[in-house]
Amino acid sequence: MEDQWELTLIQCGRITANTNAPLLGREPGAPVELPIWMGAVTDGKVRVLIDTGIGEDLDEIVAGPEPNCLQEPGEHTAAALKRAVGWGPEDVDIVINTHLHYDHCGGNRLFSNARFYVQRREWEAAKDPKGDTAYLYWPKYLSGPDMPPERWVLLDGEKELLPGLRVFPTPGHTPGHQSVLLSTGDGALCYVGDAVSVLENLTEDVVTSIHVDPEQSLKSYAEIRRRADQVIPGHDYRLREYSHGGFVLK
Ligand SMILES: [Zn+2]
Repeated sequence: MEDQWELTLIQCGRITANTNAPLLGREPGAPVELPIWMGAVTDGKVRVLIDTGIGEDLDEIVAGPEPNCLQEPGEHTAAALKRAVGWGPEDVDIVINTHLHYDHCGGNRLFSNARFYVQRREWEAAKDPKGDTAYLYWPKYLSGPDMPPERWVLLDGEKELLPGLRVFPTPGHTPGHQSVLLSTGDGALCYVGDAVSVLENLTEDVVTSIHVDPEQSLKSYAEIRRRADQVIPGHDYRLREYSHGGFVLK
């Protein structure tokens, strides 16, 4: 029997934007704070963190790509993790990065005992970023003394990392984006990173405003709907009501 996993959703910052900003082509809507999420996951034995937020680099982010980014002191990656589940950075065994935009891997360097699981295609895109979204990849998050190459595990497609915990490719937002599928007491819970920013991307087939390939995004949405009973979009503010699960799809 597969292990049962439990997820705790943790906010580690927010970006003020219009409600419909993540929905390509929609009217802007009212301003809202879109959270930056990460997910602490455990089966009672292994401690896994999905994405690591923006770490300690708020000033650089505000001065650069995202002037409307905010982070309360308690939302720093390490502080937020400690408060939510009681784990210190050294307690985390595995980090899964859905993709390598700065707001999903900015805290990786804090986790000195972890290995970082990412798709090889994403790693290669981040190493040599091109096009309109290149500014979202920050080279300093990929290497350095606390990020030696042997700590990165590069995946080629779908893989079960542990019983009941698997990743599968969901490209479109980025070339090598992956989502995480967890076997839980409430069915298959899918942590989709920025493949789906807010629920309507998925339920109304509207691609995210930031993407490299809209056709691939639509295929990824279909794959997520096929696999998931519940879903956790990467920046949906309504998830504040779901500390241990996601939106129910089925
Ligand atoms: Zn992203």
